[in-house]
Amino acid sequence: MADKLRIALASGDGIGPEITDACLSIFERAGVMDHVEFVPVSMGESEFAKGNTSGISDDAFRSVESLGVLFKGPMGTPTGGGGKSVNVTLRKTFGAFANLRHFQTLPGVETVFSKAGYNIDFHVVRENVEDTYGGIEHRVTTDVMQNLRLISGPGSDQVHRFAFETARSLGLKEVYCGHKANIMKLTDGLFLKRFHEVGESEYPEIERGDVIVDALCMNLVIHPNKYDMIVLPNLQGDIVSDLAAGLVGGLGFAPSANIGDRIAIFEAVHGTAPDIAGKGIANPTSLLLSGLMMLRHIGLGSIAATINNALLATLEEGVHTGDVRGSGEPVGTKAFAEAIGDRLGKTPSTCEPKVWSGDSVTFEPLGAPSELEMMCSDREAEIEHVGCDVYLGSRAVPNEIAPVLESLCEGSALKLSLISARGTQVWPTGSMYTQCVDHHRCRFERRDPSAAVDPRVCHELMMRIAEKFQVVCYIPLKYYDGERGYLLAQGQ
Ligand code: NAD
Repeated sequence: MADKLRIALASGDGIGPEITDACLSIFERAGVMDHVEFVPVSMGESEFAKGNTSGISDDAFRSVESLGVLFKGPMGTPTGGGGKSVNVTLRKTFGAFANLRHFQTLPGVETVFSKAGYNIDFHVVRENVEDTYGGIEHRVTTDVMQNLRLISGPGSDQVHRFAFETARSLGLKEVYCGHKANIMKLTDGLFLKRFHEVGESEYPEIERGDVIVDALCMNLVIHPNKYDMIVLPNLQGDIVSDLAAGLVGGLGFAPSANIGDRIAIFEAVHGTAPDIAGKGIANPTSLLLSGLMMLRHIGLGSIAATINNALLATLEEGVHTGDVRGSGEPVGTKAFAEAIGDRLGKTPSTCEPKVWSGDSVTFEPLGAPSELEMMCSDREAEIEHVGCDVYLGSRAVPNEIAPVLESLCEGSALKLSLISARGTQVWPTGSMYTQCVDHHRCRFERRDPSAAVDPRVCHELMMRIAEKFQVVCYIPLKYYDGERGYLLAQGQ
């Protein structure tokens, strides 16, 4: 037999070690260990306790980079202090740009829908590294915090391509894009535009739909089998995928794969469940199903199907852990894993058994690129500077600020065109009902609409403003290939 594929293994915190042991015991009995060697790596609470604020040991970083696959239990995130979520760090650092989750009705797991005889089976692909999860946040004034929400064209293309590719491999006919482009016209607008462009040019046989995320949530609750696959930006995808988990019985049943070009991370979607840790009653299903996604990823689809069918047969016979609404007495984590192991080779009788092919490892780690990878559009856009937004931290009302700013730009190529409060125009016109905080966006636009503005004029103006006010942010206003690269203020 060829060398075994080495996979990094982090058992996690809280219930992590119990559910990981349960999964490994099933893998052992199903023959996974004939093909795979798990390499333990250190991350999570034990690393935070050593003062390592990333929560990930250097060895763990190196192992995941060289092996290309990580199987992980849940990790606790310290509240307060400098510690950041290990999960988010891993996804972002290793470029695992797509989070794939599968939601399906499971036999023996009672939900509102299962009782009504309603079968649920759909996938959510969540963009995994951009959006508000960039973690680029600042306190900009006494009263205001800001989060810089970045959405990129190449980043959107990657996740859309992954969604369409997965839909194609699963034989799905339609992919929907969930978004909020009616409000976030540039960021979500770009995400939505790239969805249609990628779909139209590369996956013409797959139908496309798009839906505003609030309507999507309502639709999912009313008739969840309207969708086969939904792709969403990060934060919206996070919320929608937990909503979806609730439809099929809770987080204990939702598997998750974080896929990048070089590294893939398979993890349970729930947390460390500190309230039940060490009691031996945790449900290992979410981690097990994630492990099955991993087995399919590396080429062991047929073993994954055998385990999945044994799981379905187990649930179907009413064997379940205490978190599950079902008939009969609940069993503990170990007994549940043993029950699955005992049913290897069995198929479920009340639902379709899984049939996946692949009985040898096809995955090969690619290793690190020799240089940091740039993802850019084919052509750089032509840029025309037309002004700038200067954000001020001030307790003065806009009507007091405006005359000072007008005098500062007198005689220059720029004029003060508006002041807005939290996005809504309050000067030169606006409503006395709009409430203001100590954060003012002051927009300066070119006096001559036919002439571009030298960016240095904007910088000089900002320096003059900084002598009188607290400047908290500066954003140049530009046209890209003749299209306005900024939104008008509400009411402008
Ligand atoms: P949680 O998911 O740990 O627990 C929520 C509830 O669900 C608890 O009542 C828990 O007992 C129950 N539960 C969760 N998983 C279960 C399972 N497998 N079997 C039975 N019951 C289960 O969420 P939380 O309490 O908000 O978070 C606890 C910690 O986990 C925090 O530090 C959080 O940051 C971390 N967390 C980690 C991940 C991850 O590693 N991917 C995800 C979410 C939360």
